[in-house]
This record gives sequence, C-alpha cells and structure tokens, in this order.
Amino acid sequence: MALFIGRRYCSKMPLASQHQRFCCVGTGASNQPPESLKEAESLAPDQVETLRSIYMSSSCSISYKNTGGLQITGGRGSRLIDVYGNEYLDTRNNVAHCGHGHPEIVEAITYQMKLLNTNSRYLHPNASLLSQKLSNLFPSSSRGDADSLTKVFFVNSGSEANDLALRLARAYNKKQQNKLHLQKDKQPKQCIITIDHAYHGHTLATLDVSPYKHHQGTEITECPAYVKRVPYPDMYRGVHSNCKDESEATEQYSAYVEDACQEITLNGDTVNAFLMEGGMSVAGVILPPKSYISRCVRAVRDAGGLYIADEVQTGFGRLGKCTWAFEYSNDDSDDDDDKVLPDIVTVGKPFGNGMPIAAVITTPKVASAFESLGVEYFNTFAASPVCCAAGLSMLHVLSKHELQNNALEVGSLLMKLFSEVKARHGWIGDIRGSGFFLGIELVRNQQTLEPATEETSFVCSVLKEKYRVLTSIDGFHENVVVVKPPMVFTKEDAVEFVTCFEKCLIDLPAIDKLHQLGKTPT
Ligand code: PMP
Repeated sequence: MALFIGRRYCSKMPLASQHQRFCCVGTGASNQPPESLKEAESLAPDQVETLRSIYMSSSCSISYKNTGGLQITGGRGSRLIDVYGNEYLDTRNNVAHCGHGHPEIVEAITYQMKLLNTNSRYLHPNASLLSQKLSNLFPSSSRGDADSLTKVFFVNSGSEANDLALRLARAYNKKQQNKLHLQKDKQPKQCIITIDHAYHGHTLATLDVSPYKHHQGTEITECPAYVKRVPYPDMYRGVHSNCKDESEATEQYSAYVEDACQEITLNGDTVNAFLMEGGMSVAGVILPPKSYISRCVRAVRDAGGLYIADEVQTGFGRLGKCTWAFEYSNDDSDDDDDKVLPDIVTVGKPFGNGMPIAAVITTPKVASAFESLGVEYFNTFAASPVCCAAGLSMLHVLSKHELQNNALEVGSLLMKLFSEVKARHGWIGDIRGSGFFLGIELVRNQQTLEPATEETSFVCSVLKEKYRVLTSIDGFHENVVVVKPPMVFTKEDAVEFVTCFEKCLIDLPAIDKLHQLGKTPT
C-alpha cells in the first residue's frame, strides 16, 4: 500500500526513510506540513498530473514528458529527490546556484520572512547593502565614475531585467538625440543588434530580440524591423567555421555587427544597443572568439549605442575563470579591460538561489538619462527584504565556500573526462565552454557534423530513466548536452555523471528504442 511520508509519496517505507535527510536536515523545515499545505501534500502523483493538465495550460512545458514527468519534492546540494524517494544527480540547474536547499540560504530567507516582507518604497538595509555588494562585483571603469556599473534596479526575473535594460537604452538614446537637436523628417528607428538563436526573455520587448523563440514557434516569427540579427559566432559549425584561427573568426563574425551599425546609421536610424550574452546559453554554449566582443562594442559605441550584457545564465562565477561571461573572451594581452565593460548588465536566475530576484546594473550616465525623463520606477515585489536576504545569502555562501573556484576545478575535470570519452566514441563532435558552463555536441559524422539530434534526446532520456541523472539539451539542432550544475557539484558527481554518460553512448546502437522513447523536452 502506498504511504505518505513528509513531502514524499512512497510506495515502500524503507525507500522513503532512506531519503528522509533530504527533506529536513539542516533546513529547519519540519517534517509535518502546515495545515494549509496538507491537502496539496496528500495528492497522489496521478492526481497532481490530472489537476495540472486540466487547470494549467499545456504551453507550460514539462521536462521529460516523454518518459513520464518528474515530481520533484526534495533537494539537497546537487541532488534532487522525486515523490517516490528516488535520488537524481542534477547537472542542469543553474538557478539553485549554491545547491538545492542550502541550509544557510534557507535560514536567511526564513529569518527575514518571519520578521517582515514588504516593498522597496520603505528603506531597508537588505536592499541597500545588496545593491552595494552587487555593484562591487564589477571592475570600475577607467573612463571614470559616470561609466562605472554602480546603479542597481531590482526586478523579479531575467525577462524583466532585459526588458528594463532595453528601456534604459532607449531613454539614453533619446537624450543623446535631444542634445544634438536632431530634427528629422522621419522618426528614426531605434535599433537593437541581437545575435541569432539568442534568448533574452518572454515579454513582448524581449521576444522581439530573441530569435531562438522565433524558430521555436511563438506569435512572433521573426525579428521586427528595428531589430538587426547577426550570425552567432560559432567556431564549430557556424557560417565561418572554416576559419584558420580565433582571430580570423573574430574578424569574420564581428564584421556583421560593424556592417549592421553602418547600415543602421546610413539609413538615418540610430543604434540603441548591442545585446549579447558573453557565453550564449540556449544557442548551445557558444563562447565567442577572443576579442569578438570588444570589436563589436567598439563599433556599437562609435555609432552611439550601448552594450548590454545578459548575464542571466552565466553570471556569478559560473564560468570559473571569471565572475562574468563578458570578461571571458577579453584578450589577456591587452590590459584595457574597459573595452568590454558593459553599459548595462542583467542578472537573474542564480541571484536568489531560487527566489525570484533579478537586477539591472548600469552606469550613472545611463541611469541619469532615465531619471531625467521623470520616471518613477516601482515594481511591487522587486527588492523585497526576503528576496534581498536570499541575494545577500547567496553571495555570502558563494564567496565563503569559494564556489567559483570549485566551478573552475571540477569544470576542468569534467572537460578532461569528456575528452577521454570523446577519444573512445565517435558521437562527441565538440566539447566546449568553461567551468560549469559546458556544451557537449553530439554528431553522427565527424566530417559532415550531421547533428545527432535524436540520439541526444535518447541519451538524456536514458540518463534520467536508467541512471537517474538530469541533463539539459540546447543548440540550434538540439544536439548539445548543456552542463550547468549547481556550483557545489563535486569531483565525485563529475565522475558519476561522465561514467553514466559513456554507458548511454554505448547503448546508442540500440537505435530502435529511439522512437519508442520519443523526444525529451528537457
Ligand atoms: N536571458 C537568458 C540568457 C536566459 O537564459 C533567460 C531564461 N532562460 C532569460 C533571459 C529570461 O529569464 P527568466 O526566465 O527569469 O525571465
């Protein structure tokens, strides 16, 4: 008979008690649900599924639907526990940055919630201190204080952050035009340059600049006229993948941005901003060639535009080598770091270790253009004491436990282990990335680079079903396994993951099972 134990629905008692520790140890969480949650916790898994299918839109996707969606009810560090008490290794969660249910973060959130949670119109030490700490994570600009990233706007999500970043760029651009007293017969288009296959959010404005969603199927099927899309600087299978070295790739790919700036200006329109992730996430972990960003930024700034760096996935040390992805492809031989210092940075996902807090960090120069419009910026939930407590606590844990360094070390081990697997099997075409931001691209043929899309889906399904390892898939051809685990992922986790991954590659000739399993929406 099925039993309910704490937050788990268990078919067998011993399995549940074996995983008891994941629900309560160190989190301060009681084993008994409060009165208000008892009904939810008493739902059987099939009831949970039925209610969701009736009352929630099917547009809200479910991971692993092909093999039966997961009901995750507990988490600890790099492990997740499902409703039956099964433990999964999580190689894909870049939101629980310091690990699932980190006790220090849970404690900070609970402490603050018991005291107070209200809005940003009241002064509160958490918001004030967090804005300072966040700003201190960026190098200062050699161009002076007006160009340093010292002004913070708190928001709730990555989409909101990018939406506000676009507003700030528009305000700045408008002010510049007014200063020049530009009288034009036609209203110039305020253009944004975006990269093909980028994703920046789900609001109307961010969808406009997210070609990834246009390919995937939304109500917007292409970039509107004010958005200029340039190819993504993919050195493996991009439009210039035959370059002899990185500098040639930089030359080739940055020329698209330079040309876009020229075309916009010649057309009588204005370059508002160049929006890019320093390491492209949904495009399948594309780290641009050295100096690509600085070349593009130079052209954009010469045309009067701003550089917006989307660090929603990549920020807070994930790449190991640097705190922010925009720094990654900077040419080390050049000490002018300023050339890649953005005018606006957006952060989100990992910032609150799972709590909805995101931010836009900009310079006094840009912020003052927005302020001079007389705008009141109010956002009900943003900068709440509880979310700011989560942000403060995440930053504290990240630095206290040197997790950026862990990403560097364990990320290098993952790279090494995957390279060994690549030498043994033909399926791995490319291994790229840095720290805990890695992409393993699977191909059917090393020469033609034919994408192994179905096989990638198969591998991820089998990893979940047989080995209880959770992974994610990205890339234009959906053939890149993206590795972006919580920053507490250990060397043992890395060995376990790659060992299971290799076993799946060995299973791959069982291709007939492919169609039975169907596609994995990860
Ligand atoms: N920017 C990037 C690079 C993202 O990957 C995402 C989400 N996947 C967003 C923005 C949007 O963030 P959110 O889902 O928090 O709105």
